Amino acid sequence: PPRGRGRVPRQSREWLTSGIQARRLPPLSVAVANPFDSLVIKDLSIPPVLGGIKAGTKKLCVITGASSGLGRETAKVLADRGDYFVICAVRDVEKMKQVAKDEGINTANIAVLQLELSSLASVRKFVRDLKAFKANRPLDRLVCNAAVYLPADPEPRYSEDGFEMSMAVNHLGHFLLCNLLLDDMKKATDPRMVIVGSITGNSNTVGGGLVYPRADVGEFQGWKENDGRYIPMVDGKNFLGAKAYKDSKVCNMMTVSELHRRYHESTGIVFSSLYPGCIAESNLFREKRQWFRDLFPLFMKYVTGGYVSEAESGERLAQVVADDVCSKSGVYWSWNGGAKRVGVYNVKKGQVTGAGGSGGEIFENGQSTMVSDQMKARKMFDLSSKLVDCSWPKEA
Ligand code: NDP
Repeated sequence: PPRGRGRVPRQSREWLTSGIQARRLPPLSVAVANPFDSLVIKDLSIPPVLGGIKAGTKKLCVITGASSGLGRETAKVLADRGDYFVICAVRDVEKMKQVAKDEGINTANIAVLQLELSSLASVRKFVRDLKAFKANRPLDRLVCNAAVYLPADPEPRYSEDGFEMSMAVNHLGHFLLCNLLLDDMKKATDPRMVIVGSITGNSNTVGGGLVYPRADVGEFQGWKENDGRYIPMVDGKNFLGAKAYKDSKVCNMMTVSELHRRYHESTGIVFSSLYPGCIAESNLFREKRQWFRDLFPLFMKYVTGGYVSEAESGERLAQVVADDVCSKSGVYWSWNGGAKRVGVYNVKKGQVTGAGGSGGEIFENGQSTMVSDQMKARKMFDLSSKLVDCSWPKEA
């Protein structure tokens, strides 16, 4: 198979097809010659409410970064189920259209809206566009998946708002998105918000503990200076691109635990995070040299056992979105072991186990001490709210 698209050896997969029943329902959508032309919002002054009609009674699911890797594969799985309508929230609308065509994503079940996560103004505009698109229907699923990894940058890049780029895209943009959609989503029948986490932010794992630099948000000193603007790192220290990514992933996972603690009971929203496995062939590693991109998948497959194909990672995230098994809130989902050690070949099962790679069962994983530090998570939540200038409903 082509890179990253290998066979998906999985456990019980009934949930994957449980949307087939919905596919047999009479179509509620309006006839559209080219689904994209009508659904891509080009001009805010014309609310494309037709989009809401096209979605019919399917569950509405927003996925950020649906134009590549994990997001693309998740969109594909959900659009194929038939009972989900996926809104692809992407920075490059034309690219997404092409990707959908090339990858055979079921275009009857998707729409594309522009979202540039490195701009808080764009996040706000996206939410306005989304609300115009879906009219009165509440959003059923929000998947915060997009990310950048900038390990090769010698100097920090800053977002439109002056935040270090990995923190801006991976954490702050998504943080504001969750804030702006909380009230809307609580009106849905069984809403879920998912933020993609990573072992690299968890120091109790091989990837996060043994591979330097380690994540360390410190006491958020960098966010207290100059309102976090033009400060390279959250802990106030010197810029290290790989660490900035890991720190942003810590904030992603803390956001989920804080949202769960503060708002699960009062809103009914299920808040989840996950580690999808090491998707060694994805474009996340675009800044790495070619020799690394060639060898990394082999290393992860044959040495650590942490490798997962893009297709399988997409099934994993789609499972957290759609499977009844994942209806518990506040969980950090993982598969095939917690990646706390390198994998071991299991002759009986014919696969490598324990390192979070291909195959294996889904389970509720534990977080590192830093990620599960509640005082820190609270501080992170309050400071992030200040940085993106948002307010939250009172805690119950
Ligand atoms: P990819 O690089 O393949 O996909 C990232 C997506 O984010 C792309 O669609 C990209 O858009 C989008 N994106 C990047 N910057 C922005 C921005 N400023 N505004 C809006 N969208 C943006 O990476 P993966 O699929 O590997 O990563 C997906 C998630 O999985 C991330 O959260 C990552 O941290 C996590 N993860 C990945 C692992 C891995 O091994 N790869 C392991 C563990 C977690 P475009 O297509 O235009 O570039």
